Amino acid sequence: MVELHFQVEMLTSRIVEPGGTLVEKPVEIRTDPITGRTARVTFARAAEKETAVDALPEPPPAAQEQAVCPFCQPQLAMQTPTLADNLGGTDRLELGTSTLFPNLFPYGRYSAVSLFDNRHFVKIGQASVQSYADSFRNCRDYLNKVLASDPEAVYMAITQNHLPSAGGSLVHPHLQVHADRYPPNHIRFLENRAHAYGLQSGRGLFTDYLAHEQAAGARMIGQSGDWQWLAAFAPEGFFEIWGILPGAASMQDLDTTLWQDLSRGVLSTQKFYRSLHRNGYNLGLLAIENSASRLELRLRILARSNYAPWVRNDHTGYEVMLGDMATFNAPEETAALARPFWQ
Ligand SMILES: [Zn+2]
Repeated sequence: MVELHFQVEMLTSRIVEPGGTLVEKPVEIRTDPITGRTARVTFARAAEKETAVDALPEPPPAAQEQAVCPFCQPQLAMQTPTLADNLGGTDRLELGTSTLFPNLFPYGRYSAVSLFDNRHFVKIGQASVQSYADSFRNCRDYLNKVLASDPEAVYMAITQNHLPSAGGSLVHPHLQVHADRYPPNHIRFLENRAHAYGLQSGRGLFTDYLAHEQAAGARMIGQSGDWQWLAAFAPEGFFEIWGILPGAASMQDLDTTLWQDLSRGVLSTQKFYRSLHRNGYNLGLLAIENSASRLELRLRILARSNYAPWVRNDHTGYEVMLGDMATFNAPEETAALARPFWQ
């Protein structure tokens, strides 16, 4: 019997506080049932004073700099690259409010940028569902063209870095879209894991993960259409939330409704982050576009350190050197706080 193990190790650290009192500080070590990676919840750190979370930080200066933004009109046509001939004979892909063009600074063989709003700056949680859905579908169309031209470039992803604290270089709203013959680490790991799990159990890895979580209940948040939203059991980012589409392994198959449903969940997550006065996030949706893939679709989204003066980075020596993410609150609390934004 193949099973997923949702393991929590609870420990305490005994210290004498400055006032002389002996206290025990709780720490949880959680093991992700998918990756086997451990993550820590260091509850004591929630009491630390954080910079720039009393209110949503003001927009960065770049939010006013439309005139020098290469993604704004009229600069876009002059300052962004165009697609090579093998990808359909059009300069850029247009879909509704979205324009897609190659990334000037590619990460792999196929690397593009998909704008999702006509406005130069959109605060967290304030984009429209339609603009997001248009941009996601534009990414899907691009990936279809890639696959038609280069059938071996099956390792695909759509990502977003909102604000420089999350790695974003331009504030203008956009997604990155990637395809390659060479899988990045997470896709390579998940491909092997989902394949082995499917062979042993005959079932989908994320289908079973979701079934466990629905039975457990405490980390479930809500649904948007067929997408199921939940707090990650062993988060590797602050307030990490997953959207799972059980049984679906290909982005090519998703109809317009499913992209809109996905966009609704993404925006609900952002409204939740905004309520916590967080202004930066990363999101990612990975897929392996061949018929042998057993990897089901899961979008991850997590809050990053705020983009505001003198905010510390959320990856310390502990994360970078030891490899365990330390967040400060229980995923069950994340789910409870997030649920109202799905109603
Ligand atoms: Zn712009």
